[in-house]
Amino acid sequence: MLHNKKETANIKRRIKNVAWILLACFLVIIFRLWYLQLIRGNQFRDRAKSNRIRLIHINAQRGCIYDRYKNVLVKNVSSFNVLAVPNGIKDIGATVKLLSEILGLERTFIMRKLYDLNSKEYSGIKLASNISLEKVILIEERGSLLSGIFIQIEPRRKYILGESAAHITGHVRQIRKGKIEKKQYHIFQYNEFKGEGGVEEAANDFLKGSDGGKQIEVNSKGEHVALLVEKKPERGSNVILTIDKHMQEFVSKLLEDKAGAIIVMNPQNGDILAMASSPSYDPDIFNAPVLQTNLNALGKKAAPLLNRAISALYAPGSIFKILIAAAGLKYHVVTCPQKLECKGHLKIGEGIFYCWNRSGHGYMNMRNAIKDSCDVYFYRLGLLLGVNRIVDFADKCGFGKLTGIKLPGEKSGLIPDKNWRKKRAWYSGDTALLSIGQSYLLVTPLQLVSLISAVSNGGTIYRPRILLQTQPERIGKLPCSKKIIGEIRKALCEVVSDKGTGKFAQIKGLEIAGKTSTVQVVKMKHTRKYRKIPYKFRDHAMFVAFAPAKNPQLALVVVVEHGGEGGKVAAPIAKQIFKWYMKNRTIF
Ligand SMILES: [Zn+2]
Repeated sequence: MLHNKKETANIKRRIKNVAWILLACFLVIIFRLWYLQLIRGNQFRDRAKSNRIRLIHINAQRGCIYDRYKNVLVKNVSSFNVLAVPNGIKDIGATVKLLSEILGLERTFIMRKLYDLNSKEYSGIKLASNISLEKVILIEERGSLLSGIFIQIEPRRKYILGESAAHITGHVRQIRKGKIEKKQYHIFQYNEFKGEGGVEEAANDFLKGSDGGKQIEVNSKGEHVALLVEKKPERGSNVILTIDKHMQEFVSKLLEDKAGAIIVMNPQNGDILAMASSPSYDPDIFNAPVLQTNLNALGKKAAPLLNRAISALYAPGSIFKILIAAAGLKYHVVTCPQKLECKGHLKIGEGIFYCWNRSGHGYMNMRNAIKDSCDVYFYRLGLLLGVNRIVDFADKCGFGKLTGIKLPGEKSGLIPDKNWRKKRAWYSGDTALLSIGQSYLLVTPLQLVSLISAVSNGGTIYRPRILLQTQPERIGKLPCSKKIIGEIRKALCEVVSDKGTGKFAQIKGLEIAGKTSTVQVVKMKHTRKYRKIPYKFRDHAMFVAFAPAKNPQLALVVVVEHGGEGGKVAAPIAKQIFKWYMKNRTIF
């Protein structure tokens, strides 16, 4: 028994010992866990994060844009941005105060930027972009007081002609991209430059090049540890336009303080030499992050972003008589010497349709009818042709469809074809109005210059060309014989003679052919004093022309919205363009 008691005491002691050892081990483990999780926790978390790989986007430089003589229209310049890396700023109060003085920014604005997590990029927070060289120097001089503040150099688009060619060049807009976080990858926000409008959009794939990037390893403070992979950006290709820079500048000035469009074309190949649309805009305002004040200024103009040359739709008015005359000869419903009577008005159905000359032109042959732009002659001719033949002829001349110019936003216009006419009743009066280019007909200035180009070159319709690196392209033929086109050309020369409606385009020593057009915006009595008519109700003034008449090198269209009479307003503008060409391009 004694032996047993001793043994039992022994076992109890051993158990106690083991328990103490277990307790000690347990305490050690607890302590270790406490130490690792609470004391060293942040450190380990940081180390885990420090394995992160960051992808940094590098924008390729866009290609430049040149005119036909290799003058620069759009290039890249360096822009200076101010970046902040908050971790590196020592005295935040003093830094913000000094920066606000140099940059002229509110202190609260800078503070908000610094604490806005969304604006954080690997390279820093952008506080200001495109600052002046003077400000760059001030910041560099105070470098020691501005730790954590850096100057970043970034390429920026420079539009040499600014507003004068904004609808041709277009602009680039910076689009925020990125913000993607995938497992161990961090792609930080970057700005993608996207062409918008004009050639910047049409040739964006050429111009943009190929962006590059870096894969880097960074530590917990975001500091660069190692470069893993690098893809160098490839610069975009240059683009050469058919535009003549100096002519473009001159032509756009002619539309200053007016709304409208001018297009100058080489009728021998369809090259666009100048294309202006007014009002215009400064393409530079989209360069920086767009400021509301800039956009507000834009909003005060009437549709400044619209390229009226290719996207605005107008009734062509009397310019359409060129087409009706050619169709009349083609279908033998009239001959050149044949006379039709104008009494100043014509009764069609229940309605009375007037000539612009209320007292009547009397008996007129085709040449005189074109020269004086007699409305009644063309009402009669149109009724003899019938709407189907007119629409068919217009379709073959390129109306109602896109020309396919390599610019975004081109409109096709409208010719009231059979399907369209099924939707509403069509009367003889509609055919008469169609014959003088009114009714439901809608065309772009580009279609008008294409028509007059084809008339000038003997009938070939070229695709209007803006990129010199593409080939000239014939896309159609006027649907009538060269002999008919010759007759029309003779009549168009008389329009710009002493007694024609286009006489204000006359230049000594240069034979110009053309056609005026005054397009009614609303019906009103002719007796009203012009100055008393509100702007928006005034007629559109138009003129198409080409020169020299026998060997044409220039064809053009001038549209002045609410400008009044075509002969008095648009023809003198055309005259200035021909004069400029004679003086500066000496090809005649
Ligand atoms: Zn008449």
